[in-house]
Amino acid sequence: MKKRNLLACGMLLAACAFFRSPAVAQEYNTTGIQDLVLIYQGGSHRLDWTVDQFRPHVVHQFADGSRDWLFDGFLFLEFKNGSGRHYTIGYEKNNARKEEWAWLIDRIFEEGKSLAALDQCITQEIRNLGKPAFKHQVVLGLPEAIRGQKDWGELDGRTMDFSEREDQIAATKWYIDELTRRFKAAKYRHIELSGFYWVAEHTKHCADLTIPLSEYIHSINKLFYWIPYWGAVGHQDWKRLGFDIAYQQPNHFFNHSIPDSRLDAACAEARRHGMAMEFEFDEKATVAHPKSSHERMVAYINHFEKNDVFNSSAVAYYCGNRGVLTLNDSKEPKDKAVMDRLARLIQMRHYKKYGLPMKNRTRVIAHRGFWHTEGSAQNSIASLVKADKLGVYGVEFDVWMASDNVPVLNHDGKIQGHVVTQTPSTTLTQLKLENGEPLPTLAQYLDAALGTKVELILELKPHATPEADARAAAAAVKEVDARKLTRRTTYITFSRHAMLELIRLSPKTPVLYLGNDISPEELKALGAAGGDYNHGVYLRNPQWLQDMKRHKMISNVWTVNHPVDMIWAIRQQIDFITTDHPDLFLELTK
Ligand code: MG
Repeated sequence: MKKRNLLACGMLLAACAFFRSPAVAQEYNTTGIQDLVLIYQGGSHRLDWTVDQFRPHVVHQFADGSRDWLFDGFLFLEFKNGSGRHYTIGYEKNNARKEEWAWLIDRIFEEGKSLAALDQCITQEIRNLGKPAFKHQVVLGLPEAIRGQKDWGELDGRTMDFSEREDQIAATKWYIDELTRRFKAAKYRHIELSGFYWVAEHTKHCADLTIPLSEYIHSINKLFYWIPYWGAVGHQDWKRLGFDIAYQQPNHFFNHSIPDSRLDAACAEARRHGMAMEFEFDEKATVAHPKSSHERMVAYINHFEKNDVFNSSAVAYYCGNRGVLTLNDSKEPKDKAVMDRLARLIQMRHYKKYGLPMKNRTRVIAHRGFWHTEGSAQNSIASLVKADKLGVYGVEFDVWMASDNVPVLNHDGKIQGHVVTQTPSTTLTQLKLENGEPLPTLAQYLDAALGTKVELILELKPHATPEADARAAAAAVKEVDARKLTRRTTYITFSRHAMLELIRLSPKTPVLYLGNDISPEELKALGAAGGDYNHGVYLRNPQWLQDMKRHKMISNVWTVNHPVDMIWAIRQQIDFITTDHPDLFLELTK
């Protein structure tokens, strides 16, 4: 997009967004294409857009060597022809005429380049990766019939006069018809024409054109796309103007004086008006660039994650002319990492929308129950019942021994000013959890579990001494065995001593170790059924998972809350993941 200097306007809007933020009620827009990349193509100053230039936009190769589909939509747009004529106001002295419009069409349909090259690239990659779960979509930009222009040329024997609205519309319809006819005639195998894009990024000069043009575009069953800049005239009115989707440009990447809060403000503005978001970067995203904006690209990812964009919005990607190509070619690990991170998010979006491309063998355990939901709380009976209703495999919960030797549920060693192990259960069970439920004893929790089907993943917290560990282990096993829940239970613990006690007391129940200081080989020798390691421990010790598989040990990973990491666990065929978002995992794998 244009690198506009709209800081003052932006700050004003940001201020408005801040004060009006409680009123944000609308959702982001998800119409049409999910991940639409902007391809600046046509003008003689641009890339040719050959098969190899498209390749890193079509397929991303990750640092681990794996490859997967990237963008599912391609927007072809141009502002000027490279020889002094522009297709929308503000780029050159002279307006493009019919001959430059026709020339641009020829460029779009040129043999071996542009659309033809994109189609060819996808064809080649299908041979490598198999067919994607989606059909790649194309959006084509529309030049602006600039008001007042009289030298455009003739249409049906009549000289066009763009001071007349009818002529502006007639010329644009002619352009749409030419694109549609040529696209059909080209008989591409793997790309579809989704719609048209309004190249003007504000509607100061053209608000009266978009409505009749949108009616025409809809009459031929296509969508009308728009990407207004930050604070652009008309952006709030995008729906009334006839567009099917408008993406909010944050315009943050290009100007180091704009604070990262702009990204939050842009997301709030998009939600307020039901828009989608534009992600922006270019060649300056590399670390080595003399005016590097690498950290600004990272900020886009962080703030889009924070504002739930990747989970709930269509996204357009401005990459300058060579943003993706430059990051792809860079040998700098940070450049590779940022592009990998973005590509993982896009991959996750594909999987969420179209389903996982691999078989899922990983089962989900709700960490401290299903508590991210109305009326629930961590380690509550409600969180157990709600997890069971959700359809999880297992529920994890934390157990301490109170001072009167009664096991109770709580995560931390302290609750509401009481040290759990130094307080009698009679006092602790008077305390209220966040959902109003009283803190449960293990006996009460297990009684409730009898009415559910879930596996019970009982974490025994590490107590102050080996003797206390042993007493707590004995008390927990006694409660489980008394209810004949032995075969539905797995014990987990950070305490080496408690682990050994649990193995001794309940030899038929799997016992897993939670710490990072005992390898699977050692765990096996100690009699543990497997490892329940932190995500980072698996990454730092890639051999450990292989060792567990070789020894047929149980593998569990905690606490995996990001969908990208969930996909990682599924790909690694880890047996279980423990997550605060079991609903997200089930949605991803349904
Ligand atoms: Mg726990």
